[in-house]
Amino acid sequence: MFRVDLEYRIAGRRVSQDEWVKSIVDEARGAALSQVQAKVESLRCPDHGRSPRLTAQVPGGTDVNLSFDVCCEKLKDAIMRLLR
Ligand SMILES: [Zn+2]
Repeated sequence: MFRVDLEYRIAGRRVSQDEWVKSIVDEARGAALSQVQAKVESLRCPDHGRSPRLTAQVPGGTDVNLSFDVCCEKLKDAIMRLLR
């Protein structure tokens, strides 16, 4: 009998295919998120000199909700321009 064994491993640990696929999705999402985060957090408000605080929420599936804690509209506008 001919049989093919497929192994999925994450950091040396053997996992199920489902787990493996999920981890790939999470990794891609995590990488995209940290890029956005780095960009946003390097911003400074021209008036108050403060940087925004970014909150990312993952409600489920592949959705990510981003929210920003800002000191004023100017900083918010700067973020929107950056992310556009
Ligand atoms: Zn401000």
